[in-house]
Amino acid sequence: MLKLTHKSRGRHFLQIPGPTNVPDRVLKAIDNPTIDHRGPEFQTIGKKVLSDIRKIFQTEGPVIIYGASGTGAWEAALVNTLSPGDKVLMYETGHFATLWKRLSERMGLDTEFLPGDWRHGVDVAQIAARLEQDSKHQIKAVCVVHNETSTGVTSDIVAVRRAIDHARHPALLMVDAISSLASTDYRHDEWGVDVSVSGSQKGLMLPPGLAFNALSKKALAASKSAKLPKSYWTWDDMLESNKNGFWPYTPPTNLLYGLSEACDMLLEEGLANVFARHEHYAEATRRAVRAWGLEILCADPASYSSTLTAVLMPPGHDADKFRKIVLDNFDMSLGTGLAKLAGKVFRIGHLGDFNELTLMGTLAGVEMGLALAGVPHQPGGVSAAMDYLVGVAGKRNAA
Ligand SMILES: *Cc1c(COP(=O)(O)O)cnc(C)c1O
Repeated sequence: MLKLTHKSRGRHFLQIPGPTNVPDRVLKAIDNPTIDHRGPEFQTIGKKVLSDIRKIFQTEGPVIIYGASGTGAWEAALVNTLSPGDKVLMYETGHFATLWKRLSERMGLDTEFLPGDWRHGVDVAQIAARLEQDSKHQIKAVCVVHNETSTGVTSDIVAVRRAIDHARHPALLMVDAISSLASTDYRHDEWGVDVSVSGSQKGLMLPPGLAFNALSKKALAASKSAKLPKSYWTWDDMLESNKNGFWPYTPPTNLLYGLSEACDMLLEEGLANVFARHEHYAEATRRAVRAWGLEILCADPASYSSTLTAVLMPPGHDADKFRKIVLDNFDMSLGTGLAKLAGKVFRIGHLGDFNELTLMGTLAGVEMGLALAGVPHQPGGVSAAMDYLVGVAGKRNAA
């Protein structure tokens, strides 16, 4: 048996912003026998998950499901819609936007990266100005990250769509919804997104290993003339097989069982309730951070992420040393600072299979870790979060 080093009593707290804790219902679903992926039983499951996942993306159109990490879905979005040398406009919200940009460059796309400070969401005015300038319509796609997981900052996708439409620009809108889908309100159709990209290991509460592209009609039309080389990622082959509930190659059968169960759980709870629950946990977390006297990395309250909070360490204190103390003593994993934020921030993931008491355990672990690590702070963060959650529950009961 594989032996993990986690302490043997109680559950490990996996409070990184993905992979998230996988609920028992999903683990049990995954623990079914692997079946013939060309047989009738599989077909029923295939059709079900292909239908359910559309509800999660809030789309009537097709959603492609790959066996891949989210990075694969980034690549699939680009190679299916664009041609070598095409111009792509991206925005530097943080580390994940930077990785998508690097991928785009490696694919041979002419990638323009509008600079950001890693503390704010997309500056829509900058995008609008760039599109207005582009009178020859050389920009073929605008790509943005909805919830920047390295910083805990969300961007306004509706405003980006409006800017594209206002400039009467034909560029495709592609959105990374990897750490927002199924936890923050995300509407592929209503928001006019052409390709939405996501993965399994965040709000969907699954292990890593599934990646998604949701497609608009315009994206599908663009795929007919896109010239970037592709084989594994080709939408056409997928769509053809998916019509009958099958895949053109062997799908990750057991992860699809998990996806079926995860969609059931999300739809039973109701997406609006799922989103509200995440907003409450995020607000409770921010109240705790403020009570500790620490600073939230996101500098714009309108852009606070509801799935994670990145917290700045006081100068002279290393966030990774603090994280190690929390892990060694209280068996909880917190998210590390990525790239230029290494050592400077820690990230509290509050998404997925999560309730009030999971959050309280998480925040208690942080507060105990701050004390143990000798990080200057005021106590009382946990109480501030408790007070807020009691208020939310009281209102719910009165309604
Ligand atoms: C997790 C994440 C990714 C990367 O996904 P992988 O599954 O690690 O390839 C990309 N973008 C965002 C916003 C993410 O949160």
